[in-house]
Amino acid sequence: MRLKIQKLESTARQLEPTSEKRNEWNKSIQSYTDAFLDAIEDAKGYEYSTRQGKGMLDISFGDEQKSLEDLLAIIKKEVDAEGINPASGGHLGYIPGGGVFPTAMGDFLAAVTNRYAGIFFANPGAVRMENQLIRWMCDLIGYPKTALGNLASGGSIANLIAIVTARDFMKIKAKEVERAVIYSTQQVHHCIQKAIRIAGLAEASIRLVPMDARFRMDGAALQKMIEQDKADGLNPFLIVASAGTTDTGSVDPLEQIAQIAKKHELWYHVDAAYGGFFLLADVENSDGSTLKEIFRGVEQSDSLAIDPHKGLFLSYGLGAVLIKNVDAQVQSHYFRANYMQDTFDAKEEHSPADLSPELTKHFRGMRMWLPLQLFGLKPFKAALEEKIWLCRYFYEEVQKIGFEVGPFPELSVAIYRYLPKRGDANEFNRKLVEWVQKDGRIFISSTSLEGDFWIRIAILSFRTHLRQIDLFLEILKMGVQILNDES
Ligand SMILES: *Cc1c(COP(=O)(O)O)cnc(C)c1O
Repeated sequence: MRLKIQKLESTARQLEPTSEKRNEWNKSIQSYTDAFLDAIEDAKGYEYSTRQGKGMLDISFGDEQKSLEDLLAIIKKEVDAEGINPASGGHLGYIPGGGVFPTAMGDFLAAVTNRYAGIFFANPGAVRMENQLIRWMCDLIGYPKTALGNLASGGSIANLIAIVTARDFMKIKAKEVERAVIYSTQQVHHCIQKAIRIAGLAEASIRLVPMDARFRMDGAALQKMIEQDKADGLNPFLIVASAGTTDTGSVDPLEQIAQIAKKHELWYHVDAAYGGFFLLADVENSDGSTLKEIFRGVEQSDSLAIDPHKGLFLSYGLGAVLIKNVDAQVQSHYFRANYMQDTFDAKEEHSPADLSPELTKHFRGMRMWLPLQLFGLKPFKAALEEKIWLCRYFYEEVQKIGFEVGPFPELSVAIYRYLPKRGDANEFNRKLVEWVQKDGRIFISSTSLEGDFWIRIAILSFRTHLRQIDLFLEILKMGVQILNDES
């Protein structure tokens, strides 16, 4: 038996590369990523896809070893050559971020050392690192020292954790769901609807509160709806406000909603996945007010989702949920299994595994902690302020080249459309988006508001500067001219 084991061992040991092999691989990876980053300044935001990654289908999984060089060639061709390039400063669609380099360093460290940040007992330092990051974000929002939360894979899971916590804290048991009522606007991110369904709340009443002309929740209407629902014997329990909607960057009247939530004793959740980190920005408005004022009242919410892979420009894979009453979050997410009986004695720190559906998890704190420490906060703040001003600049300039615009951008998303002399405006703008996407230097996306087709610009990549905005204005001008000549 020993002989058999030893034979297996000699093959199994291939999983531990020698230091020469590691060196060789490290060099290949480094030269690949160096080439990628050396070309990023001029990299297109979108490459129209002809191959559609089909070559991936030919790569099988078998016993044979393959060379890293060959595999990198496949990745380059099938993955990195086509589609949206989220690392490009020309990515102005959806909500970009960019991906600051030390995120990758943090992931590398976390993966090589494979530390476990799920339970305090397993790695007190790793858990303290993650909880310190969460407390830093709680401070930014204005939550008390007793608040905590969890680092999740993104905003969708962060929102889900908050909604599940709200459901349980408000005692919405299965038989209560049909009487339960949730309030948001039509502009709420679709991950909220997904979370409501996943949380078993699909049969609750979901009220879409009317909005003002700037796509913000109408507080007076919210108040009336809650009163009516209560009078009808229903059970209003949750308000979901947005601090930066995806479509237009609008921030709901957070303070007014806080007062309504308090008065009627509802759980108040804020989705600040996109907008939250603008609390780091000092920006003055033309009327003498400051950007921070639109967030007033956010500290009165019960829970909040915020995405470091958006507003802190980290590579994809990090969202956070912050919850004021952390005991409520624990109640919804902890479980005690016998085979874990050695691990539950921590008093000083909550364990992330007690605050999320995950047990074994990526040590994702490292990818956030390292960039924040290495760079310090100053360049993050400057980049966020720059994005606000770039959006205001674009909003002015795009009107000068004949575009109609939506409301003045509260943050760094704006909507605009071209009204052609002839033909259908929706059709014209749809074609214009297609034309810009085929050009590919800049990537933008569109949306529909009340039946009208609008083009969006979402400026949040740390790599987006004046250069990309000026280029985009040139591209728009050219596209309009070509489409006008065609019609
Ligand atoms: C991006 C976004 C989400 C979803 O977050 P993911 O990180 O993509 O899962 C939720 N709400 C808003 C407002 C967003 O912008």
